[in-house]
Amino acid sequence: MRPEILFPLFATVDSLAGIGPRLAQAIGKMAGLHVVDLMWHLPTGLIDRRFSPKINEAIPGSIATIAVQVEAHMPPPIPRLPYKVLCSDDTGEIHLVFFHARPEYLERMLPIGQERILSGKIEEFQGKLQITHPDHMVKQSELEALQTVEPIYRLTAGLTSKPLLRAIKGALERAPDLPEWQDAAWLSKNHWPCWHDALQSVHAPQSEAELAPEAAARQRLAYDELLADQLALSIVRASQRSQPGRSFAPTGQWTGKALAGLPFALTPSQETALAEIGEDMAAPIRMLRILQGDVGSGKTIVAFLAMLQAIEARSQAALMAPTEVLARQHFATIDPLARAIGLNIAILTGRDKGKARKAVLEGLKLGDINMVVGTHALFQEEVAFADLGLAVVDEQHRFGVHQRLMLASKGAAADMLVMTATPIPRTLMLCAYSDLDSSRLTDKPAGRQPIDTRALPLSRIEDVVTRLEGALATGARVFWVCPLVDESEMSDLAAATDRHAALDARFPGQTGLIHGQMSGTAKDKAMAAFSAGDTRILVATTVIEVGVDVAEATIMVIEHAERFGLAQLHQLRGRVGRGERPSSCLLLYAPPLTETASARIKILRETNDGFRIAEEDMKLRGAGELLGTRQSGLPAFRIADIVLHRELMLVARDDARLILDRDPSLATTRGQALRVLLYLFEKDAVVQTLRSG
Ligand code: ADP
Ligand code: MG
Repeated sequence: MRPEILFPLFATVDSLAGIGPRLAQAIGKMAGLHVVDLMWHLPTGLIDRRFSPKINEAIPGSIATIAVQVEAHMPPPIPRLPYKVLCSDDTGEIHLVFFHARPEYLERMLPIGQERILSGKIEEFQGKLQITHPDHMVKQSELEALQTVEPIYRLTAGLTSKPLLRAIKGALERAPDLPEWQDAAWLSKNHWPCWHDALQSVHAPQSEAELAPEAAARQRLAYDELLADQLALSIVRASQRSQPGRSFAPTGQWTGKALAGLPFALTPSQETALAEIGEDMAAPIRMLRILQGDVGSGKTIVAFLAMLQAIEARSQAALMAPTEVLARQHFATIDPLARAIGLNIAILTGRDKGKARKAVLEGLKLGDINMVVGTHALFQEEVAFADLGLAVVDEQHRFGVHQRLMLASKGAAADMLVMTATPIPRTLMLCAYSDLDSSRLTDKPAGRQPIDTRALPLSRIEDVVTRLEGALATGARVFWVCPLVDESEMSDLAAATDRHAALDARFPGQTGLIHGQMSGTAKDKAMAAFSAGDTRILVATTVIEVGVDVAEATIMVIEHAERFGLAQLHQLRGRVGRGERPSSCLLLYAPPLTETASARIKILRETNDGFRIAEEDMKLRGAGELLGTRQSGLPAFRIADIVLHRELMLVARDDARLILDRDPSLATTRGQALRVLLYLFEKDAVVQTLRSG
């Protein structure tokens, strides 16, 4: 149960003075429903109202707080024009400009002949100074209260700055003195304030420097958040390890047969990964392992062989893919291999309905089906296994941590293998996935050709099409990727449908189209036609990004390459260069390229090593974007920034392990304080684990 000292922070925001249901709703949408969410809503800028010039010293474009005398009200001659008020001091005149004004209000606020203090942004309009909608209009006596530095917050529809400032002030007043959970020596080494002071100070920045991620108060709060996160992950990890797992002693019965039937030998890193997986499965603990490997590095075979090991121990195995297309493709790869050695395999996606679905559910429940491939449909409650021994989750970053735990929960202590084709930078791996062990496929299957990567301005698109003509004549197959499908969204984006129409006019009957808004069946059909060579150019949106495997495809054209992230471009490029023939990747961009965009292209041309590309990508952009934006399984931090605070994240990780080594149940005085920290960052479920374990 949440400690009482935190109750005021977890009250809803409408419990704050002056916050009614409407404001509470707007705040809820933007920051969250609770008082604590307002505390984490940090300023993004500041307004310095300390500058109080005379009118003739006021600088257009800057914020000024000026003392004036109200001279005249000038209601608009016609309704659409603004209401103006003329003010002056002994050096000059300034106009106040109000749109949609309520005259009674302005007459009350700005009585003619009186002194007033105004604060706002000075503008110059037709050679005259003006302030449009001053932020403040107060009496002389309030000058001092006004001459402060005001924080600026991100706003949202229905929420303006004044009520938000008031709400945050109210929230901060509720901040209790919390017991210190950080190590005293670490705090003083960094000159970090206590939690309470840090919180007050991040909301009252006095300079731009104090808004920076490396400012002491911000670092302190970021570290709190990172420590809470790492502690939670470590606790989960410890509790999962402590659950008795199952020991699968691989007999080699199925794996031996399967290996004998493969037309190739495993690569050294496939061998290593398989050995690591085998060891985990044989050990009486629960396997939680991530298998990382670049596109085309051969993860599917590794997963298949791992599944066979589980089946050798007479349990079942499941493979879950993030999309229908991928699930079907995995099935198409694995099905013949499984059948060839006499195993019973099924597919289960949202599209499998009626009798067939019933039969699969029945087979899984009775244990007649050894192996199942599917989408998130495998999570559903009606899906029950006789005995799920291994769950493999492909393209893990599309699923959240929560989802991967759900699939694991389908089997009593089922082993879990997650696969990702987006190599994850080491720093992130250590942190965001510190609950998992990791295996890496670092080499590619033999016989792969390097991919010739080139960047061209979009204006050369005709040359590219002409080049395709030649290539198609020799039997080449082409992926053509466009950023968005619907023109209405951003009209300057080359829509896939338009491109498809244009290419089809040029190469009649040879082109296909695949995009996210198509039905599953239509997507399958388009994929199948391209696979079979019935179509030779497949125009696609990023639905083909992950996993799609057509060995005959040798040309990848990416339109508006500047709009894709580095990792994404690398993923897309990985769709070619899978067969024996040399491949090329053409990056078409709209000039001028930004510095970041040209850096991305340069790296792509330099290397095809996904792990190196991932590191570079992390440097070039935020980590959230890096792994496929918000859907990534990465933690969404409120204060900390995965990229900017990555050093702190590494410290937090070690810190968390040390803490748990010394005080596994968080029972000491500091341990108690750390429990408060966990509750503060809403890791309630994790604290529960701690108690029961
Ligand atoms: P990933 O899922 O890692 O992108 P896949 O498992 O789809 O890669 O493998 C890509 C292709 O390489 C498949 O056609 C697969 O059959 C083939 N392959 C896998 N391992 C090897 C290997 N050791 N030698 C040759 N080809 C391999
Ligand atoms: Mg794959």
